[in-house]
Amino acid sequence: MVDTANPGGAAPALLAPGRLLIDGAWVDAADGATLTAFNPATGAPAAVVAEAGPEDVDRAVRAARAAFDEGPWTRMQPAARERLLLRLADLIEAEAGEIARIETLNQGKPLSISKGDAARGAATFRYFAGWITKAGGRTLPVSPPNGHAPLVYTRPEPVGVVAQIIPWNFPFAMACRMLAPALAAGCCVVLKPAEQTPLTALLLGELLVKAGIPAGVVNILPGHGRRAGEALVRHAGVDKIAFIGSTAVGKQIAAVAGAQMKRVSLELGGKNPAIAFADADPRKVAAWAANAIFFNAGQVCTSASRLYVHDAVYEPVMEALVELAGRLVVAPGNEPTAAMGPLVSRDHLARVSGYVDQAREAGARLLAGGGRPGALPAGTEDGYFFAPTIFCDVPESARLLREEVFGPVLAVSRWSDEGQVIAAANDTQYGLAAGMFTQRLATAHKAAAALKAGIVWVNAFNILDPSAPFGGMKQSGIGRDLGEEGLLEYLETKTVWVDLDQ
Ligand code: NAP
Ligand code: MG
Repeated sequence: MVDTANPGGAAPALLAPGRLLIDGAWVDAADGATLTAFNPATGAPAAVVAEAGPEDVDRAVRAARAAFDEGPWTRMQPAARERLLLRLADLIEAEAGEIARIETLNQGKPLSISKGDAARGAATFRYFAGWITKAGGRTLPVSPPNGHAPLVYTRPEPVGVVAQIIPWNFPFAMACRMLAPALAAGCCVVLKPAEQTPLTALLLGELLVKAGIPAGVVNILPGHGRRAGEALVRHAGVDKIAFIGSTAVGKQIAAVAGAQMKRVSLELGGKNPAIAFADADPRKVAAWAANAIFFNAGQVCTSASRLYVHDAVYEPVMEALVELAGRLVVAPGNEPTAAMGPLVSRDHLARVSGYVDQAREAGARLLAGGGRPGALPAGTEDGYFFAPTIFCDVPESARLLREEVFGPVLAVSRWSDEGQVIAAANDTQYGLAAGMFTQRLATAHKAAAALKAGIVWVNAFNILDPSAPFGGMKQSGIGRDLGEEGLLEYLETKTVWVDLDQ
């Protein structure tokens, strides 16, 4: 049932703070600035929160610096730090319903996805909590020319104060994915959520405080990228920048990091290919491919926005795919039947529509969607909805084939030559994810090796786990989130030499 008075959810009750979290306290912005978060299902304001400026960034970085240099955090026993993160995971699970409700209200996604995001956040904290008592150094078998046998060992040490900047597609899950490894490593953090989606990061802040994470260890600053974001990236008190977002902004951040010799990890965009081979089951291909592009309304950095289907299975795959796109329930995220919600913002709706218009003008053939879906409840006229959209015969000149649309828009191509399809799949500036559908082991392993992507799925797409490293090659980024690699991004290796023969 849709609450037609307020499709997309009631105004949040738990946003008592609605403020910046700096040094363990909820405060207004120094200049009193605020920003409005919208409900994408209606286009109406959902909440007003404090908006951080450079002065707030400075206070937050100083708080993080003090917590790192002087506070109890870095001197706490590993088992005590582990217990805090496990307690936080429990609190996230206990509040999962509220987290999901607010995420759907502010991001627009179906409640089923929001609930999954909350569960994933808790699982990520648990996974990285486990590393705290296990990530040790090594002793090394060196052979120095003086014939001595020194003791040489490594100490993994936290990088220090980390600036973390995240986007709006998975606001809660990404905040957890960024914070968990940083806290496990012993770092202190200033986190800036996206301007469109500040609400669940603030809720996470409440849970961090409740779990007993010491003051200053995590500071949360809703704000604009060009204001708070830039001030944070440039601040001299920051040792490392971790960013998830567009390649364009990632390059600007990498340039600042380079000039200031800050550590940097970047998880950027993708134009991810999925390849259906001749032996693939057409219905399974269609089901995976639909999920891979329409999940979260295509606002996923690993979405499969290019599908290459072999001649032998092209007709049945397309028939099933177009049928699935037509059947997908697009609705406000709090409606139980919703499979796809609205896009995140009015600007983003205009951006996605622009790509679709350009593809049509370039001569691509539209098979499904292409605009606002028909059957939407009253009250959503100003919501940011866009129908599941499929194009075929997309000319090389269309931006749709090259650029990240970040919406529910699929470009399908037909192929017959294996060498050519691998080359086409790799013909992109990006290298985040790729996938394939085949039962033949040799085909799968050869293609897995040949695809230039940080993640390759075989007979699946878009599956994540905290244990599995996540990140891209080429212009899709630098470094890896999740897994042991994700932890190592927040640690420096110190090598200690002790000459025992002196
Ligand atoms: P974006 O501009 O890269 O935003 C990501 C984060 O960076 C936001 O918190 C943003 O703040 C902040 N930011 C922006 N400019 C900054 C700067 N100069 N210095 C420091 N921080 C800065 O992405 P977007 O505008 O939200 O989306 C644009 C496109 O990026 C999407 O359509 C999609 O193609 C891609 N994208 C990729 C991912 C991903 O997961 N890889 C996620 C989201 C978007 P504001 O919120 O104020 O902009
Ligand atoms: Mg932006």
